Amino acid sequence: MGAIRISAALFGGTFDPFHNGHLRMAIEVRETLGLPRIVLLPSHHPPHKPGHPVSEAQHRFAMASAAVSGFSGFEVSDVEIRREGPSYSLTTVQEFRRAEPGVDWVFVMGADSFGEISTWHRYEELLAACDFLLLPRTGTPLSPAPPARLHIEKEEPHCYSWTGESYRLPGGRRLYCPALPALDISSSSIREKVRSRKCIRGLVPSEVEEYIAEHGLYLGSGEEGRQ
Ligand code: ATP
Repeated sequence: MGAIRISAALFGGTFDPFHNGHLRMAIEVRETLGLPRIVLLPSHHPPHKPGHPVSEAQHRFAMASAAVSGFSGFEVSDVEIRREGPSYSLTTVQEFRRAEPGVDWVFVMGADSFGEISTWHRYEELLAACDFLLLPRTGTPLSPAPPARLHIEKEEPHCYSWTGESYRLPGGRRLYCPALPALDISSSSIREKVRSRKCIRGLVPSEVEEYIAEHGLYLGSGEEGRQ
């Protein structure tokens, strides 16, 4: 039996804003895999969204923190915000591994993000640095389509307590694709709704809805409306 070794998850994102898709997925991952800890990582300068203005890190950090306050097992880390320059996931994973060498980390990301992994900084090293878990994203197949040079092997038979698929990455790390329900919510659709003065209740935690209103986020025209 391939016993699961993961003891904590890293879930990074721009979180502009943190929404119920992020929150619900983090809860599903935590419960499905029985993880005691999920660390949310608001990024400083997301290297994958060049040219897109992003709200100030202090706002994005505050919204993620408000959303999970009161949920045991959730933490929000400011390591990427404090670091100068772009938020490279490899640097983050290396920092967490150094700081807590006894923890087996799994890096959580949407299936859409994994499809672009070959554009990430030193992605082959990143894929060898920890295990990965893909979240379903509407419009993206959950089964990973690896970049051309990446050979991944499906594991058979499936031997975990949850349903879904798992793969071996080059270097021996695992890629988990649990069958979780997809939630069609995105930060960009929320920004667009706020800009159009539409209601975002149900799409973001109430704390985030209040924060957006209190700070007047996303009201400006186009993506320049971010603060
Ligand atoms: P934007 O619409 O601005 O591109 P986003 O909604 O994708 O933003 P991010 O902060 O960029 O939010 O996402 C962080 C991570 O969470 C990414 O790996 C993304 O794929 C994943 N993610 C975001 N929304 C969902 C969702 N509804 N379901 C599953 N994964 C999600």
